[in-house]
Amino acid sequence: MKLKPTRVVTHNMAYRLQCDSCDLESEYTDWADANGDASDHEAEYADHWVSIVDLQEA
Ligand SMILES: [Zn+2]
Repeated sequence: MKLKPTRVVTHNMAYRLQCDSCDLESEYTDWADANGDASDHEAEYADHWVSIVDLQEA
């Protein structure tokens, strides 16, 4: 019996943006997206500091 190829969705690459000055909170599977949005947010609100939290599942 042949196994059907299944699309593997990995959940171990996930990042969450958290801002220490507002309640911004979003999740990304792509570092570049997370990083881009973090930069955009910090560019828009110069006194906000956005952290990118690595949500790797153990
Ligand atoms: Zn903010």
